[in-house]
Amino acid sequence: MRDHYNPFIGQSSPENADYRLPKNVKPTHYDLHLEPDLENGSFGGSVVIHFDVLQDTKFILLNSDEIKILTTVLVQSSGKSIKIERVHYHELQQTIMIPLPESIPAGSKIRIRQTFKGRLNSSKKMSGFNRSRYVGRDGKPKWFGSTQGQPTGIRQIFPCADEPGLKATFSSTLIVDQGLTALSNMDIASEEEISSDKKKIVFNKTPPMSTYLVAFVVGELNYIESNDYRVPVRIYATPDRDIKQGAFCLDAGARAMVSHEETFGSPYPLPKLDMVAVPGHSGAMENWGCVIYGEQYLVSDESDASAKDNLSKAYVVTHELAHQWFGNIVTASWWDSIWLNESFADWATYNAVTHIWPEWEPWSEFVAGHPNGGLNAYQAALALDSNRGSHPIEVPVNTPSEISQIFDSITYAKGCTILRMLSEFLGVEVFIEGVRLHLKRHAFGNATTNDLWDSLGTVSGQDVQKIISIWTQKVGYPVLSIIEDEESKTIEISQHRFLQSGKVPPEADRVLYPVYLKTKTQQGIDQKSQLSSRENTFPVDLKFYKLNAGQTGLYRISYPLSRWKNLGQQLYSSGLLSSIDRVGLISDLRAIATAGQTEIHTSHLFGFLSHFKNERNYFVWRQILVCLQDVYGAWLFEDSSTLAALKRFQADLMSKVLGGLGQDLWSFKPGESYKEQSFKAVLFGNAAGYEIVKLTASYLFDQFMDGDTKAVNPNIRQAVFRIVLSDPKLSDNDDNYNKLLHVFRTTSSLGTRSDVIKALGHATCPTLVQKTLDFANSTEVQSTTDRNAIFSALSAHQNGIDALWKYLTGNWDEIVGERGGIMGGRFVGFCVEGFTREGQLKKVEDFLRRQKGNGVEKFEKFLEQSLDAVRAKVGWVERDRKEVREWLRANGYYEDDS
Ligand SMILES: [Zn+2]
Repeated sequence: MRDHYNPFIGQSSPENADYRLPKNVKPTHYDLHLEPDLENGSFGGSVVIHFDVLQDTKFILLNSDEIKILTTVLVQSSGKSIKIERVHYHELQQTIMIPLPESIPAGSKIRIRQTFKGRLNSSKKMSGFNRSRYVGRDGKPKWFGSTQGQPTGIRQIFPCADEPGLKATFSSTLIVDQGLTALSNMDIASEEEISSDKKKIVFNKTPPMSTYLVAFVVGELNYIESNDYRVPVRIYATPDRDIKQGAFCLDAGARAMVSHEETFGSPYPLPKLDMVAVPGHSGAMENWGCVIYGEQYLVSDESDASAKDNLSKAYVVTHELAHQWFGNIVTASWWDSIWLNESFADWATYNAVTHIWPEWEPWSEFVAGHPNGGLNAYQAALALDSNRGSHPIEVPVNTPSEISQIFDSITYAKGCTILRMLSEFLGVEVFIEGVRLHLKRHAFGNATTNDLWDSLGTVSGQDVQKIISIWTQKVGYPVLSIIEDEESKTIEISQHRFLQSGKVPPEADRVLYPVYLKTKTQQGIDQKSQLSSRENTFPVDLKFYKLNAGQTGLYRISYPLSRWKNLGQQLYSSGLLSSIDRVGLISDLRAIATAGQTEIHTSHLFGFLSHFKNERNYFVWRQILVCLQDVYGAWLFEDSSTLAALKRFQADLMSKVLGGLGQDLWSFKPGESYKEQSFKAVLFGNAAGYEIVKLTASYLFDQFMDGDTKAVNPNIRQAVFRIVLSDPKLSDNDDNYNKLLHVFRTTSSLGTRSDVIKALGHATCPTLVQKTLDFANSTEVQSTTDRNAIFSALSAHQNGIDALWKYLTGNWDEIVGERGGIMGGRFVGFCVEGFTREGQLKKVEDFLRRQKGNGVEKFEKFLEQSLDAVRAKVGWVERDRKEVREWLRANGYYEDDS
């Protein structure tokens, strides 16, 4: 049907071009009027779009989705208006075609005026004009309106040319109830009363910008303002929130703007920056001048949050504000360059935080684990890109569904790792100089990934595209295997692709990466040696060496067993292994031992970890504990005596560091550094195997429930809730569970609320598991972030895993209908990823096979990744089950020797 009314479709570029708009006209300006009705969940409005006609044309194609067009009028260059009786909808492509009464010649300027109406979406949908609900100070429910444009939500608000490359200016007017505040990208030009209960707010005209960055917010709002930056920075929140609790993020935001402006070398072009806390919003969105956040990121009290959560908030704010330049001033030409937008914002965040809060050691944080929503940046890149379901960073995308699926962790985590590698290679100063040039060259326009490489090339004199493209265009990364030769004092290094679930087929192992070895010896770090062939030999001082010093390279190292033993003994005595090097060694050994392609097995990993009993570094302990959680997760369906032995091994590893801390473990003093607080928090959270910690958790829990909420330090609050709930002896009835649920419903503390959410899924008794599932799916849980936190906790224990699977299979049709994109994909992942046994894997595969053509396609990529993760665990446990038992027994970790 579409072919006969749109002569351009299918001609402009090959394959699937149907989803792209033709180039016959170009929008230059939008005059937009909107009148949202929060009570009734609807909106109406009008838009006048100004076009330059680029080719003689008889039609105009615009994006439009889920809105009803009421009238359409063409205004010609001469000023003559012609009413157009009918527009043609094309739902699949989310477009409308406006036929013109006669051919308009190239070079003309025309306007199209349309009126329309639409529905406000529920906040769960996170697309278009959303409406969320919160309970006001007066105890009554209130409505709140906010928009989400990225990636294809603006076409659900008004008809527009909704592609990032089609930038235009916007003049917006909102009609809202008196008493409500309305915000948009720009400051307010005028405000006037138009009736006893309505007012009209006119915003100033924006600079040229992409549609997906347009934003509106309507609701009862309070604000605080900082003047520490060149333009006013404000935080807004609904009146039920204590706005003063936004002080931490307000300060972080102002500092981030100062830092970014200096780094990017060009001024932020808007007259104000608003950051708005929106009830029920998931994550955060960088709308130009009007950044929207989930409330917990913006207005949770600094003194009522863990050090890690405060750091996480500062990271999120700094990331969104980096986009005000990179993304908003210069925007990706099309969504296939979006990885750069996100990866660069991450890189810029670590760079800015290094200047603002150096004591947080941002790049160590990057290597050892990212606090942001549990995404471990460097570790996540290594883990995800060793999965058979991984994909290259740069992939072609066309349809709205494809566009929303590329916002995944591979894109973010690997992209930032590669930019870090590149910035180290070029030098950070040169890298920044190149970014400045890029921003100047393309200001208020669009750019591709290659445009950035060009600017970096101009500044550095290097062929940047050649250096970097292999990492962005190919899937995976290499493992370097080492053979030592004592006699010639050399090492032979060969590279192959690394896959966590085992053997790499030859067809997946063709790429040869240029790898800087960065070998650290007693003589220093060799910055020059590079492996770019399949294998090569390098001289090295065999007394001590470690490759990938500082963990800047995206690859793993597989040393011979004897070398791992040496490194274990040299951890501290050599004085040469930084905390980041130690993190890297643990991470590599864990991956190598569990992939099962070498002589190295899980028992060697345990032996290596046993050298860390005297470790005192926060980042290293985090890595050790993550590693042990991985082992425990893979062994989850093994016999209980082995699980208990694993816990005893962990407790033994931790005994020295815990003994050294004593009661300081759970008492926090004012002025303690971020690292010290987080160090104690991560140890406490993993010390449930200690009777004293369990009793302390129980005691603190009771005090909290008796009304002394300050008794539990926010650094360990979530752990206290979790330890109490997950120990069947401490919660043999529903009592503690119900108390927590009551706290969730009544507390005004966003930090406490979020800690309850993260803890509930850890209750393991089947009736409570069911209760948790019901709760997660109820209207009480508004944000998808919260829901996924609950599912994630459920996927960490046997009963939870079984219940999630039952829920998924029992409600498949409904789930497929309701969920899609990355959030739905994550949910389906949680329902599958916990399994560890061959029989379970088969059960999952059988079920999914039966659902072919019934929605599986929607989650295909996510399922592929989840299933490969399960396969890796199945193979690992099969291989090492016996020797893990033997090792644990030989080292005295079984309770009895029967
Ligand atoms: Zn971002």
